[in-house]
Amino acid sequence: MEDDGLIRAVDVHGTIRAVIVSTTHLVQVAREKHNLSYTATAALGRALTAAALVSPVVARRGQISMKFQGNGPLGKVVVDASSKGTVKGYVENPQVELPLNSLGNLDVGTGVGTNGYLHVTVENGFGSQHTSTVELVSGEIGEDVNRFLVNCHDAGSILIVGVHISREGVEAAGGLLVQLLPDHTEETICKLENNLASFGTFTFLMRRGMELKDILERGLQGFQLEELSERTPLSFDCRCSHERFVQALKVLDKEDLQEMIDKGEQAEGRCQFCNAVYLVPEDVMRAIAQAM
Ligand SMILES: [Zn+2]
Repeated sequence: MEDDGLIRAVDVHGTIRAVIVSTTHLVQVAREKHNLSYTATAALGRALTAAALVSPVVARRGQISMKFQGNGPLGKVVVDASSKGTVKGYVENPQVELPLNSLGNLDVGTGVGTNGYLHVTVENGFGSQHTSTVELVSGEIGEDVNRFLVNCHDAGSILIVGVHISREGVEAAGGLLVQLLPDHTEETICKLENNLASFGTFTFLMRRGMELKDILERGLQGFQLEELSERTPLSFDCRCSHERFVQALKVLDKEDLQEMIDKGEQAEGRCQFCNAVYLVPEDVMRAIAQAM
């Protein structure tokens, strides 16, 4: 299986643009860090993949955060993706497992739930940010993110995300985003529909050993694609650190901090995004309190 990565391409006639990603390794990292159930792996894996796909389209220099807040037993699913090719995320109830759905697939839709919202916050990299909210369509992640894209760009798009898991772990994960551009015609849509009808399952193609380039060509036969960039590597990466956790203590009330010190407690924090645990010993806390 090739390394995780991303390719962007555009049709030379200006009819469509596409982003394709492979995320197998980073979804496995997320599974291990958060000790995810099968259902939670599929949900978070699809969300991480969708964030990686959407990020270069809506936040080319900044970053994007997506929060799926449905009424399902998995609770919130939160993911971030940066323009540097890093993603991170978590599931509120990572151990929830559900029976397969009627199609024999992991039941992400029930896990996330439908009655709720997807909040997408885009930071443009120049300090400004804004949040859009759409209602969840199915809780299956792909459709929900596509609704956001269509709303946000007022243009048709297709978003496919998939995660395949076996007893050994994540065997394949990835996705494809195709967006219509202003110069598209009826023929463009027809061609896309025909291609997708015979496309098959994204993760099945990956497991057959197809590389991203080949999958892209298969999905977009008949288009004259031009790659916009070299293949960009993708990884699960959280920028939290001990230092940042110490900084966060500095914004606590002095009384609260003093109370912890008096009780002889050391400060303990866990990063939601990567599960790293940070401990701050009493003497460091004393120093922080004194400087307040
Ligand atoms: Zn972290």
